[in-house]
Amino acid sequence: MKLIKDIKALQSISDYFRATVRTIGFVPTMGYLHDGHISLLQKARMDSEIVVASIFVNPTQFSPTEDFNEYPRDFLRDYHICRNYGVDYIFYPDTKSIYPDDFLTEVYVKDISDRLEGTFRPRHFIGVTTVVAKLINIVKPHFVYLGQKDAQQAIIIKKMCEDLNIDIEIKICPTVREKTGLALSSRNTYLNDDEKTEASILYEALNEGKKMILDYKVVDTESIKKYVSNYISRKSKNIKLQYFAITDNYLMNEIENLKNYKGEVVLSLAAYLGKTRLIDNILFNYNN
Ligand code: AMP
Repeated sequence: MKLIKDIKALQSISDYFRATVRTIGFVPTMGYLHDGHISLLQKARMDSEIVVASIFVNPTQFSPTEDFNEYPRDFLRDYHICRNYGVDYIFYPDTKSIYPDDFLTEVYVKDISDRLEGTFRPRHFIGVTTVVAKLINIVKPHFVYLGQKDAQQAIIIKKMCEDLNIDIEIKICPTVREKTGLALSSRNTYLNDDEKTEASILYEALNEGKKMILDYKVVDTESIKKYVSNYISRKSKNIKLQYFAITDNYLMNEIENLKNYKGEVVLSLAAYLGKTRLIDNILFNYNN
C-alpha cells in the first residue's frame, strides 16, 4: 500500500490506471476506521482492481459549534487497517491542499440538503458534496462506496453525480451494527458502555416503526411518528430525539400517508445521548 498526500501525484496514478484499463474503487472516509468502514473496503476490494481509501476529517462539514476538534483521529491505526484489508493507495491530504487560501467553490444540492439532517446541520451537506466532488476529481474512481448508515448523505451524493454527469457508479453498502443493534460510528467513542447499551434503543425504535408499517399495516405516518417518539422516551430517560422521519429513498421526501405509496421506505432519526449526536436509519420495501 502506498501513502499519498499530494493531489497531483494521485491524479497521475489514477490516469495511469485508467489508461491501462484498470477499475478504481474509492472509499472516502474521515478515518478512525471501524467495521462499517471495513465493509466498504472489502466490497471495493472484491469489485475493483485498484482500491483507494481517503482519510480526511473535512472541516467544512462541521459547524463552529460541532465536534471537529474532538473528532477521533488515529492515522497510524487507520493506515494498518487499510493495509490489512488490501487497500492499494491511502490518500491522506493536508487541509491546506484541499482548501488553499484562495478556495471559492461550493457544490450545493438544493432542497434535499436542507431537510432532515440539513435542518439541524445547516451547510453540513454543502461541505460534504464539495469535498466529495473534489475527492472524485482527484481519485477519478469508477466506483464509490458509501454506507447506508448516512442515508441522506448517500442520496445527496448520488443526486450530485446524476445532476453534474459525474460518470461513476455509487455503491451503497448496508449499515454494520454492534450485536445490540447500535450502528457503528466513529462518534461511538464518545459513549461509555452504559450509553452504548442505551443507544441501541434507537435501532429498536426504528424496528418498532417498521413493524407498525409492515405488520400492523398502519398507513398514517403521523401516528407512527408519535408511536416511535413515545417508544424512545418510554425506554430511555437520556435520549433526546431530534427528528424521526418516514421518507422515500430517492429524494427523501416525507411520506404523509402510505395508502397510495409503493416502493422503498426509509425510517431515519437523529438523537442526542448526552452531548453525543447519533443518527440511524432503516430501509425496506413497501408494497401495500
Ligand atoms: P465517515 O468516516 O463517518 O465519514 O464514514 C465514511 C463512510 O463509511 C461513509 O460512506 C459512511 O456512510 C460509511 N459508514 C459509516 N458508518 C458505517 C456503518 N456502521 N456501516 C456501514 N457504513 C458506514
